[in-house]
Amino acid sequence: MKKIIMLEMHYPKKMNPDKKHLQEAQYELMQGIIEKTNLNIVTCGMCSAVIIHDRDDEEVHCPYCDFGGEPSDFPDLIFRPSPRETEDEKIAIEWSIQDVYHQAKNDEVEITRQQALNVLSLLDRKHDATLGICWDTISMYINMEING
Ligand SMILES: [Zn+2]
Repeated sequence: MKKIIMLEMHYPKKMNPDKKHLQEAQYELMQGIIEKTNLNIVTCGMCSAVIIHDRDDEEVHCPYCDFGGEPSDFPDLIFRPSPRETEDEKIAIEWSIQDVYHQAKNDEVEITRQQALNVLSLLDRKHDATLGICWDTISMYINMEING
């Protein structure tokens, strides 16, 4: 486990600070789509599905998970890339495949590389932000991955 530089939580994980001008271009293109169509492309705040809705909608309903709410409950698919934080104003904790192997060994279970990658992906996408990621959650997802 080691600290790495982190981008704001709701930004894409792989946002490269050197490519900010390209990300801004994406944002501008998206604004163009919104202006031309009056439609916005957002993500469901509950299940993360990508949804299109009319910009005038006062309520948005997710057809995939049945969640409904105000447009603010459905984050834009493409964010304006303007993290104001400087490098010393943010932190992130990084977990690697080695950590998954380490925990699997502690739990005395065999794990393949693909299973370990699946565990990492689950940790990334499914972890409860209230609890965060710790050795116990890694153990839990290893168990889920191996035992279904
Ligand atoms: Zn949904």
